[in-house]
Amino acid sequence: MAPVTSRAAKPLAAAAIAQLEADGVATLIGTVVNPAGLTHAKTVPLRRMSTFADPGLGASPVWHAFAIDKAGIVFSDAISVVGDQRIRIDLSALRILGDGLAWAPGAFFNQDGSLDPYCSRGVLQRIEERLTKAGLDTVVGHEMEFVLVGPDGSALPSHMWAQYGLAGVLEFEGFVRDVMDAASGSSVAIEQFHPEYGVNQFEISLSPLSPVAAADQLVLMRVIIGRVARRYGLRVSLSPVPFAGSVGSGSHQHFSMKRGDTPLFSGGAGVAGMTAEGESAVAGLLAGLPDAQGILCGSVLSGLRMQPGHWSGAYVCWGTENREAAVRFLIGGPSNPLGANIEVKIIDPSANPYYATAAILGLALDGIERTAPLPPETKVDPAALTDDQRNKAGIKLLASRQADALDALDESTLLRGILGDEPVDAVIAVRRYEQDTFGDLSPEDLAEKFRLAWSV
Ligand code: GLU
Ligand code: MG
Repeated sequence: MAPVTSRAAKPLAAAAIAQLEADGVATLIGTVVNPAGLTHAKTVPLRRMSTFADPGLGASPVWHAFAIDKAGIVFSDAISVVGDQRIRIDLSALRILGDGLAWAPGAFFNQDGSLDPYCSRGVLQRIEERLTKAGLDTVVGHEMEFVLVGPDGSALPSHMWAQYGLAGVLEFEGFVRDVMDAASGSSVAIEQFHPEYGVNQFEISLSPLSPVAAADQLVLMRVIIGRVARRYGLRVSLSPVPFAGSVGSGSHQHFSMKRGDTPLFSGGAGVAGMTAEGESAVAGLLAGLPDAQGILCGSVLSGLRMQPGHWSGAYVCWGTENREAAVRFLIGGPSNPLGANIEVKIIDPSANPYYATAAILGLALDGIERTAPLPPETKVDPAALTDDQRNKAGIKLLASRQADALDALDESTLLRGILGDEPVDAVIAVRRYEQDTFGDLSPEDLAEKFRLAWSV
């Protein structure tokens, strides 16, 4: 691989530093997300910003192998105590957080300036480039569901909480208002913010952006809600199952594609107004979902959420506005100004969002490249069908045993081709560690132990 350098960043950084100083910024936080979905950070004083951008700050390759118990490092032949990498922040994505802080997303490079194959932002960048090369303009919109808890992860009182209830907004009015303010101060476009089905669970939907920028925005938004929650003595649980037996939290991703001015998911002659390429994109996605499950929702807790009746899309099928389908098709038209798009429901917040987007868009592109035929639409709750009807329609249930999902990923030449061997091996390593170390815990103990594992 040819070395990739970013020497042009330096003069840019000098001007940017002066502007940031004028804006009161003194401290810069750069983040990266690892294969276990953990967000890591390095922080520098502003005068070190250009160094953080290029050549970057040192980090051991074991950052890719930190486990969710905050203690384990899953060493392998490829990831050991030897070696050093560079994290470089992307100054073009820098945002001001307030209170003297700024934030920027980081990516991993090798010391010779070449891209690190494990780097999740780099992996998504390469998928974005492949899409562009194929003439496809793609945007991604993230939903984030989360539960507010006490600083020790304890459940908060919920006497007035009701699904989508106004009381939930008013009980946490300061939190809601400050999140809105902080988001607009950091140029994050929130589409909507509402109480969700679970007790003290909220959802925020973010405006669609190009794939890497959208994943960056999700990470930034996690920083924002984490900071605001602390102001109120709260914490944000980003666990897929914050409380056992209760509703889970998803991290659904929506995407739409255009070829030139022509959308792939509306105005076409195919099913539900899709173009032929749109149909193949959905077909490719569906065909690869069982293999991608370990990337999209592969943590030791994810299987507890991946059940029929949880609106998490446990059945591999697609349907227009069908919330029990793994792939929900949202129609365009006057009531949907963002246009028709595809929602992948199975993704949860324990996933690395960069890998997750890379996997789903890579599968869509694969479907387009091999003109995959779209299976029939599922127009009812798939759980309402008999086994026989589901078999005839080719509707499979995703694995609820994580070990099975991980085996499917490990053996998938398709996902290895899309993401590369290193990311797949790293995800398998950290997730198998979770299984081997904690797989025997009861759902209650698992939920309790990892309620704050992905929190920032
Ligand atoms: N909380 C559900 C999940 O775990 C999703 C609910 C919804 O459809 O918004 O994915
Ligand atoms: Mg929701």
